[in-house]
Amino acid sequence: MNLCDFAPEYIRSIQPYQPGKPISELARELGLDETTVIKLASNENPLGTSPFALEAMINALHQIALYPDGSGYELKAALSKRYDVDPDQIILGNGSNDVLDLAARVFLKPGAAAIYSQHAFAVYPLVVQMIGANGIAVPARDYGHDLPAMLDAITPETRIVFIASPNNPTGTLSTEEELYCFMERVSRDVLVVMDEAYYEYLPEANKPDSIKWLKQFPNLLITRTFSKVYGLAGARIGFGLAHPDVANLMNRVRQPFNVSSIGLIGALAGLHDAEFVQRSYALNRAGMLQLTDGFRRAGIEYIPSYGNFISFRVKGDAANTPKVYQSLLRQGVIVRPLGIYEMPHHLRVTVGLESQNKRFLESLAHAFEELA
Ligand SMILES: *Cc1c(COP(=O)(O)O)cnc(C)c1O
Repeated sequence: MNLCDFAPEYIRSIQPYQPGKPISELARELGLDETTVIKLASNENPLGTSPFALEAMINALHQIALYPDGSGYELKAALSKRYDVDPDQIILGNGSNDVLDLAARVFLKPGAAAIYSQHAFAVYPLVVQMIGANGIAVPARDYGHDLPAMLDAITPETRIVFIASPNNPTGTLSTEEELYCFMERVSRDVLVVMDEAYYEYLPEANKPDSIKWLKQFPNLLITRTFSKVYGLAGARIGFGLAHPDVANLMNRVRQPFNVSSIGLIGALAGLHDAEFVQRSYALNRAGMLQLTDGFRRAGIEYIPSYGNFISFRVKGDAANTPKVYQSLLRQGVIVRPLGIYEMPHHLRVTVGLESQNKRFLESLAHAFEELA
C-alpha cells in the first residue's frame, strides 16, 4: 500500500475532465502561430467580454491585495433586483460548476443517488462521483432529456436530479411545459437542479419562467453563469437560486472566499450591459444559421441547438471522427470531440464570429476531402 491507495476507490476511479484544448497548447504542439488559431471548443463568447465589465475589472485590479467581499453583497443585491428573489435565495459560485458541486456536497453521501441524462453535461457525474454517491444516467431520447423516464428512475435513495436546458453538448431544450410538469410530479424530497447556463441565448418564446417556480417548489435550484453570454469564463463566476433553506446549507459548505473580487466586479458590471448581451445573442443567432446552412449544403447531419454551439455528425464509422478532429487541429481550428459523452460520431463546435464560422466550414470541407 502507498498513500494514494488509501484514497477512496470512488476518487481513484474518477476520469479527469477534458477541457477544450487551449490555443497556446495547440500552437506549441504543431508549431502554429497562436494568432492564426481559432478556438471554437469551449462555448466562450466570440465577442469577448462586455466593455463595461472589462473596464470595471481593470480598475478593480488596484484592490487585488484585499480579500473579496465573501458575502457578495453588491452582486447579490443586483441579482435580487434583477430576478425578483431575496438575497438569501442566492448562492454565488466560482463558476456555476462550483454551485453544482455545492449541491452535491450538501445533498449527497455514499449510498445516495443522483440522476442525469445520457449525453448531459460532464460535470454532473463528476461532482456525484467525488462524493462517492451513485450517478445514474437515464437514456436520452433524440439526444434530449427523457424527463418522464428520469422521473421513473427516481428511488428512495435519489437526492438530486440534474436537468440541463439547453443541454451541453447536444443543445437540446426541454420545454417550459415539460419542465413544469416534471416539477409538479417530482417528490419534494429530491432536489431538482435546473442548469440554465445558456438561458440568455434562448429566444424569448423559449425561455421558461423557471425563477417564478421557486415560490412554488422549495426543492428547485436554478443555476446560471456569467461564463457564456457575459463573456466572463476566465473570471469564474456563476450563481444558484433556491429556497432560502437550501441556499443557506449551500452557503455554509462553500469556501468563505469562493468567488474572486474580479469576478464579483465583472459580473456586476456585465449584468447591467444589456447592449452587450443583446449583441451576443444576435451574433449567435446569425452564426447558428450560418453553420446550419453550411452543414445542410455539405450534407452533414447536426443536432438542432438552442445554445451557442452545435454538435454535428461525422459520416462513416467512429474512427473518422478523430481523423476529422485532428485535421481541423492541423488547420488551426479547435473543436470538441464528444467521445466522453457517448457520442463518438459527433464533434461540437462553438458558434464564432462570421469569419471564424466561415473558416471552420472551409476547414471542415477540407478535412472531409482528406478523409475521402
Ligand atoms: C458552460 C456550462 C456551465 C457553466 O460553467 P461555469 O462553471 O459557470 O463556467 C454550466 N452548465 C453547462 C451545461 C455548461 O455548458
